[in-house]
Amino acid sequence: MSFRFCPKCGKKEGIFIKGFCENCFLQDNKLLILPDKLQFEFCRKCNKIKVQRHWVEFDSMELLDFVKSKVKSKDFEVQDIEIELEEIDEKNFNALLEVKGLIENNLLSLRGVIKLQFASGTCDSCMKISSDFFEATIQARFEEKNEKQEKVMNEFKLLISEMNKKDPLSRVVKTIKNRKGFDLVLSSNRSAKISSEKLAKKYNSKVIRSFSVVGVDKSGKEKRRYTYCVRF
Ligand SMILES: [Zn+2]
Ligand SMILES: [Zn+2]
Repeated sequence: MSFRFCPKCGKKEGIFIKGFCENCFLQDNKLLILPDKLQFEFCRKCNKIKVQRHWVEFDSMELLDFVKSKVKSKDFEVQDIEIELEEIDEKNFNALLEVKGLIENNLLSLRGVIKLQFASGTCDSCMKISSDFFEATIQARFEEKNEKQEKVMNEFKLLISEMNKKDPLSRVVKTIKNRKGFDLVLSSNRSAKISSEKLAKKYNSKVIRSFSVVGVDKSGKEKRRYTYCVRF
């Protein structure tokens, strides 16, 4: 058995790195190179955050992957990074890191912290919505006023919110009730089209589409606002 001891503290057992015991070595050498803080924008309306030009959910992998990509190391072969987010307040979090890796064939687990700071802003989708941007109206019309009306409205809202996961503009901006039924104003034309077609099919009805021209875009193309009317 080879005899070794740490020239700094005299320790004889445990992991030795470059001739020193693990503790003494880590006290004098920084193996992880971490940014002190990372700054992001968050949307005060929908709570999404901007990670490298994309607006994503706070708890998405994009944020964690981005934080991981900022972990650099020296003489240390990183094998795995685990991150836990600790909330300080609404705009400040600590990313608590546990970084596992190899140095001179010794497996070490190192800890580190990166501050995450969030500044409030408005994401692209919410910006479009708040500037009164809307694309389509669903008109649901009924022979008579009964419970069916409420049921159909809930079905529409469910479909629209399901599509919201993939299309952030799929949301009801305005609900207008009138004597013949109700109108739902949506920011997403696609979502208005799909949801009205689905429910028309379910109730053996059909969709009557119409549009009005609301302007011209930069390239000279007509900007249309569609209406999808379904009789139930
Ligand atoms: Zn030592
Ligand atoms: Zn937003």
